[in-house]
Amino acid sequence: MVNPLTGGGIHYAMKAGKTAAHVLSNALAEDRLDAEYLALYQKLWQADFGYEIKPLILAQKVFTSPFTNVLFEIGNRDLKIQQVVSDALSEASGTSIDVKLLAARSLAVILKSAFRLP
Ligand SMILES: Cc1cc2nc3c(=O)[nH]c(=O)nc-3n(C[C@H](O)[C@H](O)[C@H](O)COP(=O)(O)OP(=O)(O)OC[C@H]3O[C@@H](n4cnc5c(N)ncnc54)[C@H](O)[C@@H]3O)c2cc1C
Repeated sequence: MVNPLTGGGIHYAMKAGKTAAHVLSNALAEDRLDAEYLALYQKLWQADFGYEIKPLILAQKVFTSPFTNVLFEIGNRDLKIQQVVSDALSEASGTSIDVKLLAARSLAVILKSAFRLP
């Protein structure tokens, strides 16, 4: 378990560990150590916080792409972008990253710059 953007993951690991223990305990009680039953662990952690990890994977790919320098230039001009990225990197909010908001703010910065708007 790891946050693909920050490399931290202890809180994910602890949540997933609790889920794993729960599933395994039930599996032992019901004598169901087959793959089909144990796959419940995968389903449960994904339902619990998998939705947080997917946008972080996308953000990690974007932030380490050939466009990284351009994105830093764009982010440098927008306080909201800086706040969202900073919160995600510090895991301050304990949640994911709003990739759609970042894309919209980036587009706004580009358009403002292209039309020389304040
Ligand atoms: C240098 C470093 C610094 C970090 N700092 C932080 C931090 O400050 N804050 C934070 O939140 N996170 C941090 N992390 C990330 C954090 O350590 C991981 O997110 C977390 O440990 C993941 O826990 P896990 O239980 O999923 O996996 P792991 O901790 O990797 O545990 C998996 C275990 O399974 C064992 N294993 C693997 N395969 C098998 C097998 N086939 N049979 C039996 N056992 C097996 C491994 O030996 C290991 O003990 C750091 C990671 C590193 C490497």
